[in-house]
Amino acid sequence: MLEKQFNPDLLYNSIVHFYIDKKGYSKDKANAIAQSVVQKEAQRRICKNEKCKHFSHDHIRNTETCLVENCDCSKFSSK
Ligand SMILES: [Zn+2]
Ligand SMILES: [Zn+2]
Repeated sequence: MLEKQFNPDLLYNSIVHFYIDKKGYSKDKANAIAQSVVQKEAQRRICKNEKCKHFSHDHIRNTETCLVENCDCSKFSSK
């Protein structure tokens, strides 16, 4: 099974809306928060294998083999 695709734009937009609409933050402040959250989420989903650096959804979850063509990675590495 493949992991659900990570969509940074969608996440970014919903965070900005949340902080502006529900928390009454300024647009700048909401943007700054969204940026750092999205960055952190992206980091968590990027394979730390130097030769890989693809997103976890590019890996087959159980065998953890990278699906990207010509990529040598055979184990998703999160650290
Ligand atoms: Zn890869
Ligand atoms: Zn990988």
